[in-house]
Amino acid sequence: MQEQKTNMDTIVSLCKRRGFIFQGSEIYGGIGGFWDYGPLGVELKNNIKRAWWRAVVQERDDVVGLDAAIIMNPTTWKASGHVDTFADPMVDCKSCKRRFRADQLEGDRCPECGGELTEARMFNLMFKTFVGPVEDDASVAYLRPETAQGIFVNFENVVTTTRKKLPFGIAQIGKAFRNEITPGNFIFRDREFEQMEIEYFVRPGTDEELHRHWVDERLGWYRRHGLSDSNIRVRRLEPEEQAHYAKDTFEIEYLFPMGWSELEGIANRTDYDLGRHAEFSGQPLKYFDDETNEHITPYVIEPSAGVDRSVLAFLFDAYAEEEVRGEKRTVLRLHRALAPIKVAVLPLSRNEALTPTAREVWAKLRKHFMTQYDDAQSIGRRYRRQDEIGTPYCVTVDFDTLEDKAVTVRDRDSMEQERAPIEGLAEMLRNRIEGDG
Ligand SMILES: [Zn+2]
Repeated sequence: MQEQKTNMDTIVSLCKRRGFIFQGSEIYGGIGGFWDYGPLGVELKNNIKRAWWRAVVQERDDVVGLDAAIIMNPTTWKASGHVDTFADPMVDCKSCKRRFRADQLEGDRCPECGGELTEARMFNLMFKTFVGPVEDDASVAYLRPETAQGIFVNFENVVTTTRKKLPFGIAQIGKAFRNEITPGNFIFRDREFEQMEIEYFVRPGTDEELHRHWVDERLGWYRRHGLSDSNIRVRRLEPEEQAHYAKDTFEIEYLFPMGWSELEGIANRTDYDLGRHAEFSGQPLKYFDDETNEHITPYVIEPSAGVDRSVLAFLFDAYAEEEVRGEKRTVLRLHRALAPIKVAVLPLSRNEALTPTAREVWAKLRKHFMTQYDDAQSIGRRYRRQDEIGTPYCVTVDFDTLEDKAVTVRDRDSMEQERAPIEGLAEMLRNRIEGDG
């Protein structure tokens, strides 16, 4: 059986040690299913979101963006089906009071203490809150469990303001919340997470073809940004695995240490959502098709990706340990577009003669890229530190620099070094960092 070569502890430890991801509110003992992105993690995550937005909004003429509110009118969740069906069967242990998902238990006793269990009952996964000063039934609201519904309720607004013709999509990146009973596997299943979703509206009858288009598009995106073919696959869900609204669903899965797991679901949601919102809101939510002179309810193809899961997959795929001249080197071979720090500026030593020039070079580069300046410890140690966080280029200022106004540029992957003039350095690095391939 195929296995992920890197284990979860290795990545969790790297993330904590180097400031990618910390346990949420760690000084208070943390809180299950919530994670904080550190200085490098926020850069990586932003780069992933930017790469996604670029591919699905900026470079297409048929998708526009949206940023809807997290808290929505609670009727939204009645229409979407979440109030009634977004639930897991739960049992409680009568002795230790722990709670478990009934469908994940073997046997009828508590797996922790052997105690007696209650009957299974449905537990809704939406976080509840109250809007306004009064905590009564009329003020109940929910933190959105998916970003999709913010798109559906704005369908009419977007059609009217953009005059988009079918097929067209609306893309959104944002936080979503699910009160998972058993969060786990680091940031894979958490209670607060971020989604990158597209609702792509199509004419009924063209839905199957456009569904395949999006599966290919999204698979290609992950591959272009560094996930290796052997660690990524597409799986078509079995009929009994489909969500109640879905006609057909494909999952893009990644080979994590716990096995093949969903990175992104690409579902054909048919006209379910627009139909339901039309019914609950009393608004027509139709599209006037001027090809046929008919008002139709479009079908929708939904590529729905998890940002946090993407972060984790890109980290796993980039991580490598290798031996270089008898020493262990840990390197994150992140795609250049995703790397948190693009360029590190390293004076050969802390010599006073080098510092002003090194600082000048740094000042020039930081206008263009996320950079780091590091002059602590040996140059070899500093290269290793940059390798471990995935920095594609290190620029070293040495004594020759003072004479020839040139620096050494070191490539993370090949470890090759070349001399390059300070004049034009930013442009040279930009071409490499933004170049194809
Ligand atoms: Zn128990």
